[in-house]
Amino acid sequence: MTDEQFMQIAIDAAKEAESTGGAAIGAIMIKDGKVIARGLSNPWGKRDPSNHGEIDCIRNTAKDNDLMDMAGCTMYGTLEPCSMCVGAALWAGVDRIVFGAYAEDVADNNYEYDDYSSEQLAKTSRRAADPTRGKIEIVGGVLREECTGLLRGYRDWQKQ
Ligand SMILES: [Zn+2]
Repeated sequence: MTDEQFMQIAIDAAKEAESTGGAAIGAIMIKDGKVIARGLSNPWGKRDPSNHGEIDCIRNTAKDNDLMDMAGCTMYGTLEPCSMCVGAALWAGVDRIVFGAYAEDVADNNYEYDDYSSEQLAKTSRRAADPTRGKIEIVGGVLREECTGLLRGYRDWQKQ
């Protein structure tokens, strides 16, 4: 399957997140071409400020697959991962992150510092400097318009 096809599955997860009271942000984990976990953004509903879609996805990957080392995994998310989620992906050993909308596409979401770039953050991590662990690759902008559209009009960032 292509990045676009996997992103479509992440979009479905985002719509489910929205229908359960969260922001329309979803993530999925892929290993060996298969979806092995999903994650839904819903910090408010879960009473857990860290319950971003990507964190939920990493937790479900570990729990449902008894998988602590996520080498060989690609995580697809509908929105550029924040610094917390990039950090969690690095700790989990995820090889590749593909996201849809860039943080800058969601104007009201001031969750990071100016000119934040998840790719830049990953590049400057210690893991990126360790050749024995391999580098994390981050690819943005897959189905960007559709992913941005999911969050158009969303105003409850402070509630997230
Ligand atoms: Zn996050």
